[in-house]
Amino acid sequence: MKYVLVTGGVVSGLGKGVTASSIGVILKASGLRVTSIKIDPYLNTDAGTMSPFEHGEVFVLDDGGEVDLDLGNYERFLDVRLTRDNNITTGKIYQSVLEKERKGDYLGKTVQVVPHITDAIKDLIESVAAIPVDGKVGPADVCVIELGGTVGDIESMPFIEALRQLFFSKGPDNFCLIHVSLVPVLGVVGEQFTLMLVISENKTYTTQCSGTASIRPDPSLFSMSVCSAVMVTLQPLLETTKQKLSQFCHVPVASILNIHDVPNIWHVPFLLRNQNAHEAILKQLALLCVAIPPNLQ
Ligand code: ADP
Repeated sequence: MKYVLVTGGVVSGLGKGVTASSIGVILKASGLRVTSIKIDPYLNTDAGTMSPFEHGEVFVLDDGGEVDLDLGNYERFLDVRLTRDNNITTGKIYQSVLEKERKGDYLGKTVQVVPHITDAIKDLIESVAAIPVDGKVGPADVCVIELGGTVGDIESMPFIEALRQLFFSKGPDNFCLIHVSLVPVLGVVGEQFTLMLVISENKTYTTQCSGTASIRPDPSLFSMSVCSAVMVTLQPLLETTKQKLSQFCHVPVASILNIHDVPNIWHVPFLLRNQNAHEAILKQLALLCVAIPPNLQ
């Protein structure tokens, strides 16, 4: 099983879900079987009790699971049928760990975030990733994991630690990180501000590269091998902005992808395909690169 992890920075609502779904589409068009997991670090067990005014659509799965709307995008984009377990929340993880604790399964040990919560996260990710969701037999080739919220949220930290451990155990050829960030354009100034966080090979940089670019290694975050830094902007990313990001964030220009606002989210997989995102991802995952059909079917 290979994993593609999609994280987000700066603000939520950037389009991580649409980006993760679209990545699934181009990987599927490359001939791979794809499944997906959405991690929501909130404490609710599921989205069923959350106000749609605050949270948006609650998507109901075939098994009755009431989940985040991103799972609806995954099902529609990838033509798969997901289960309630494909949506992992902090509430679900703690519930399972606390139930085990009450049963005495930890044999008197002190139950802690590391390793008990992080082990529960890893175990659930691995078991859910192995569930076939496309009607075929056997596990998919690639699991796209979207980590909800933004990197740096207190609630995300156990997930980030668990994913770091998962990455370490699976090895760099089996793990690709895609970070979605925001490149805001200030109307008056008209300049693209390149505020982003990049996770580079075995190092983590919280990077603010605008006029006075600076790189600040932040060892408290996680270290992963990066394939792509995907940035979401309202306008197409300028070549000079890409160069600046590449230089200061240690990401090859070819791995800086631009997903600007489009009139219809079904255009996003084509945006990615046109920038050869699949080539960058397949290379990172040590998979053979194939030409994908123009209609992505
Ligand atoms: P996140 O997962 O980061 O919270 P979503 O993927 O749910 O963000 O997207 C937030 C909203 O933005 C959704 O309504 C989605 O349809 C819309 N959206 C995402 N990407 C784009 C895009 N490239 N162009 C236009 N709308 C988009």
